[in-house]
Amino acid sequence: MSIAGNVGLGDLPRICPLISRRVQASSDSTETRVVQAGPVRFGGARPVVIAGPCTVESREQTLAVARAVKAAGAEMLRGGAFKPRTSPHDFQGLGIEGLHILSEARRETGLPIVTEVMDPRLVETVAEYADMLQIGSRNMQNYPLLVEAGKSGKPILLKRGMAASLCEWLGAAEYIAKEGNLEIVLCERGIKAFSAGEYSRNLLDLSVIPAVMEETFLPVIVDPSHSTGVSNMVERASCAAIAFGSHGLLIEVACDHDGAQRPICDAAQAIGPATLCNILRFIDSRMESRILRKAHAV
Ligand code: PEP
Ligand code: MN
Repeated sequence: MSIAGNVGLGDLPRICPLISRRVQASSDSTETRVVQAGPVRFGGARPVVIAGPCTVESREQTLAVARAVKAAGAEMLRGGAFKPRTSPHDFQGLGIEGLHILSEARRETGLPIVTEVMDPRLVETVAEYADMLQIGSRNMQNYPLLVEAGKSGKPILLKRGMAASLCEWLGAAEYIAKEGNLEIVLCERGIKAFSAGEYSRNLLDLSVIPAVMEETFLPVIVDPSHSTGVSNMVERASCAAIAFGSHGLLIEVACDHDGAQRPICDAAQAIGPATLCNILRFIDSRMESRILRKAHAV
């Protein structure tokens, strides 16, 4: 007899038939659905790098980071205008003004934007500005928000809840899919563990990547910033995630994070543009060796 509410992977075809690989595709299929956000394709041959500030704190800071991540080779810009903060007394983001700043950064750099929406009543507004909507870890099981996000017609970046099982995470994705929106990218961002806060912010669960791929055809990316919380771990975590098959990365970047432009939010995990360049070079070298391997095989 199972305990009420206790579900396992065997229940996935019932919980999330619309996104279940077992239900939707022939069992030997390993295809990933390509999810498109503007010109960016998640789930294709090349992992997608999304980079930008944790939070849109000012016009100058956001434009400077946007220019730097574009120059490094990132394909998409991230940045929070509405921030989920532990304390209600802390800076909550610039709100609509932040969305205007992100639009300006997109106009200037050509990078499409992903930004978080927390309130179901604001989905329509945020969707007017963003190329992709982010549902954050704290809101993964905010079901009215998932339904509104599903109705928005925008691609959705669905972060894993910080204590969510794979079933709960994919169940959340199913809420979006049920609204007719299969443009969903999953994002592992670290989970709570006994060691959380001791040497890293969360526990980066790399083993969930192949498990996700087994269960669903939706692309999955990794956030090495919130999972480690430590800037000098971000490059290694990024490379490890790519080696594990991640379809992309979501990385927090600051331009001068030891100097005057130290970010208000999440400064300890922000990398500089030079480290972002290293991560992009790592991806380039893997792509090149793949092409060479293919050429040798024929
Ligand atoms: C973020 O990406 O800005 C964020 C708040 O992340 P998470 O929801 O994973 O904590
Ligand atoms: Mn952050």
